[in-house]
Amino acid sequence: MATSKTFDMGKKLPVSGHEYPDPMTTVTLIPGDGIGPEVSAATRRVVEALGTDIEWEIHQAGLPAIESHGDPLPPHVLDSIRRNRVALKGPVTTPVGTGFRSINVALRQELDLFASVRPCRLFPGVTSRYSEIDIVVVRENTEDLYEGIEFEQGVAETLKLRGYLKYMHGFVVGQDAGLSVKPISISASRAIVAFAFELAKRQRRRKVTIGHKANIMQFSDGVWLDAGMKLAEEYREVGFDAMQVDELAMWLVWHPEELDVIVLPNLYGDIISDLCAGLVGGLGVAPGMNLGKEYAVFEPTHGSAPDIAGKGLANPLAMMLSAGLMLNHVGLQKEARRLEDAIARVLAGGKVRTGDLRPDGPPATTDQVADAVIEALA
Ligand code: NAD
Repeated sequence: MATSKTFDMGKKLPVSGHEYPDPMTTVTLIPGDGIGPEVSAATRRVVEALGTDIEWEIHQAGLPAIESHGDPLPPHVLDSIRRNRVALKGPVTTPVGTGFRSINVALRQELDLFASVRPCRLFPGVTSRYSEIDIVVVRENTEDLYEGIEFEQGVAETLKLRGYLKYMHGFVVGQDAGLSVKPISISASRAIVAFAFELAKRQRRRKVTIGHKANIMQFSDGVWLDAGMKLAEEYREVGFDAMQVDELAMWLVWHPEELDVIVLPNLYGDIISDLCAGLVGGLGVAPGMNLGKEYAVFEPTHGSAPDIAGKGLANPLAMMLSAGLMLNHVGLQKEARRLEDAIARVLAGGKVRTGDLRPDGPPATTDQVADAVIEALA
């Protein structure tokens, strides 16, 4: 049994007028922490069973890198990705209260990985409330409330800013409030919306839906929506609509077949991509990639799942599907298809699945899923 189609963006990024440099077959592999090392090892085994000439350059980031280098994202990890231009990454924990910022945000900003792409396709055999779903979430990755411009509650600079806001604009901010700043620029909005349209054109998709909350946040989401509407004029061959993000969430659970490519600012994109993962069987089967004009980092949508880490319970399929996207990207389309078809066979067979996919019988372990995928490789 073969899947209907693979998510093939070809070797070139869907950025109008930009030529992506030739991808490498040496790939930086960041196993991550939590369930990361388990799903990475399973994925590595499967990719190796495909017989590709992919060579891995393995580097630690996240908690193990804090232990070994005192830094969750040591410079040599970034150097490796810059050299290889392609990375496959497991999830990493964002340490809370340690003074370290999210390495995911840092990676995206350092490498200017402005586009997060999360294909959400329902594989036959996976339990879902729906019969067919094929949605792509395109998320702006570099700005918005995720940029990390934060002012801690109670500290002197926050109180100063509070005074300034009152003096300049008459805004009253409670003395006990923390503040996060939400920058949205015309240039970043145009770049990601153009990316979404180019992707829709390349994959012959019906339409692009832009999500926003411009009625409330006129000077941030307003900029976003305005930039999107203007760009839509240049892509009349692709369908387009604009929707407030709360309404979009309602449509996604009510009539997901009405949605196709969805483009969102950073925070809404984060939330809606998990929602879409839920439509197609959950985080265990939701792959993703972060793309810039020079570099590409492939990673599952899920996090490090500390609640199940080290127990062999994690579903490795999201990481394997991300590896499939990576294979497509480096020009190994045939291998990518073989991998996706093997995953589709295992899911359709219904016998070997981890607990998150609600198996009828006893859940399979991470390694058993990898064994089944390897056996299903044609
Ligand atoms: P999570 O995605 O790690 O877990 C949410 C729920 O889904 C948990 O119940 C978990 O057990 C389950 N789950 C996730 N992946 C699974 C898999 N492959 N198989 C089976 N079950 C799976 O989200 P969280 O708990 O909010 O975050 C944990 C940590 O991961 C946090 O530090 C967060 O910042 C980080 N995080 C990292 C990334 C990344 O590295 N890209 C993404 C999201 C969250």
